[in-house]
Amino acid sequence: MNKRVAVIGAGPSGLAQLRAFQSAAKKGAEIPEVVCFEKQSNWGGLWNYTWRTGVDENGEPVHCSMYRYLWTNGPKEGLEFADYSFEEHFGKQIASYPPRAVMVDYIEGRVIKAGVRDWIRFSTVVRWVEYDADAGDFTVTVHDLVKDHVYKERFDYVVCASGHFSTPNAPEFPGFEHYSGRIVHAHDFRDAREFEGKDVLLLGSSYSAEDIGSQCWKYGAKSVTTAFRTAPMGFKWPENWEEKPSLVKVEGKTAYFKDGTSKVVDAIILCTGYKHYFPFLPDELRLKTANRLATNDLYKGVVFVHNPKLFYLGMQDQWFTFNMFDAQAWYVRDIILGRIEVPADKQVLLADVAERVAREDASDEVKYAIKYQGDYVKELVAATDYPSFDVDGACEAFFEWKNHKVEDIMGFRNNCYKSLITGTMAPLHHTPWKDALDDSMEAYLKN
Ligand SMILES: Cc1cc2nc3c(=O)[nH]c(=O)nc-3n(C[C@H](O)[C@H](O)[C@H](O)COP(=O)(O)OP(=O)(O)OC[C@H]3O[C@@H](n4cnc5c(N)ncnc54)[C@H](O)[C@@H]3O)c2cc1C
Repeated sequence: MNKRVAVIGAGPSGLAQLRAFQSAAKKGAEIPEVVCFEKQSNWGGLWNYTWRTGVDENGEPVHCSMYRYLWTNGPKEGLEFADYSFEEHFGKQIASYPPRAVMVDYIEGRVIKAGVRDWIRFSTVVRWVEYDADAGDFTVTVHDLVKDHVYKERFDYVVCASGHFSTPNAPEFPGFEHYSGRIVHAHDFRDAREFEGKDVLLLGSSYSAEDIGSQCWKYGAKSVTTAFRTAPMGFKWPENWEEKPSLVKVEGKTAYFKDGTSKVVDAIILCTGYKHYFPFLPDELRLKTANRLATNDLYKGVVFVHNPKLFYLGMQDQWFTFNMFDAQAWYVRDIILGRIEVPADKQVLLADVAERVAREDASDEVKYAIKYQGDYVKELVAATDYPSFDVDGACEAFFEWKNHKVEDIMGFRNNCYKSLITGTMAPLHHTPWKDALDDSMEAYLKN
């Protein structure tokens, strides 16, 4: 097969794409040349931790939005690779909420085994992608940051797997410019110990606010206040944690809220979300979407309706992660290999998107949303040779996880789940999450 595929990004989604092609080749298929461009010097995407904030060693925006002491915020059984179990990787079953370093080891394990590292050009940022309608191919301009060399190559297909939790959405509030404490977006939050003994205010009511607030609480913040725009998170918080309606303004170090109350705070952390941001794509190729389960303009959630040779992975809001990226990557691979046909009529592609949007909009319920994304994963898995797994079981695990959080928000990580891939029950972790201050792999894996 004389074709070339460019993959942008070597995070979990991009790596899934490489693994998908490698697994087809292993079964004897003729595959195209696959070149993955990764701007960081290593793989893992968001999971590749750095202490840096702002710009990286090459002056590029830092991609990492993760922080020290991060443990998975959902059970690992919901994201386990169907073709590479935790047991296969670690040689034993491990507890259900691994810290970041353990997850990185697992993510790497599969692609080291697959032998695809040579397909990746590290420290190489994609600067621009253009489509040539006459030639029917893409010209990709990249910058090798080590050699400081900019060059172009042509590809038949482009898979954009550059992530969408790296470019902060950072609103301005009256008084911020004169605030004398620290204001930081969640993207730049790195170590909760910085806020030990401090009164911390977090703006937002989603995962970042919940988890960064929990980190601050765990590592000794004096108090945690979270301010919501529409609805409180409503968990049974520890006694030094309170929820307030929207921030209105700050004066000096005093934050004023919509209900007329105020509080003096030492730091403000903006847990106000991220933007889908693709500075390397022209208008006609760029995905413009909100963070939702049914993205705009993606047939089957992956094929760009305005140019079906361009694919996007992992652009949805995420209940399912690694196994959904896999399902998408295998699906895209099979389109490129000619095993799956994309309808030629653009109206059919648009109708698919509209149907997904309408179905997502039919309910605001969390269980509905989880099931919705589970059905999507099932739909894609059924179309390829990705090993089928108990997706309904994964949905059940997510429902249970949600209940555990309602019961005990600081203790939900002390529960364990059964693997849907191997059927083995995870062991209880040796230390409750709130007391486990060492997030190293050695500490987590010791018996
Ligand atoms: C704080 C935080 C905590 C999370 N916790 C969990 C969790 O506990 N469990 C879970 O399952 N998921 C979690 N997630 C969700 C996360 O989105 C996925 O786990 C996963 O990292 C997404 O993979 P991705 O490959 O799509 O994107 P990313 O991980 O963002 O990877 C994208 C890659 O593209 C590269 N790239 C970007 N632009 C360019 C360019 N122009 N040229 C070349 N390379 C480029 C980046 O350097 C990066 O390596 C969390 C996310 C955040 C932000």
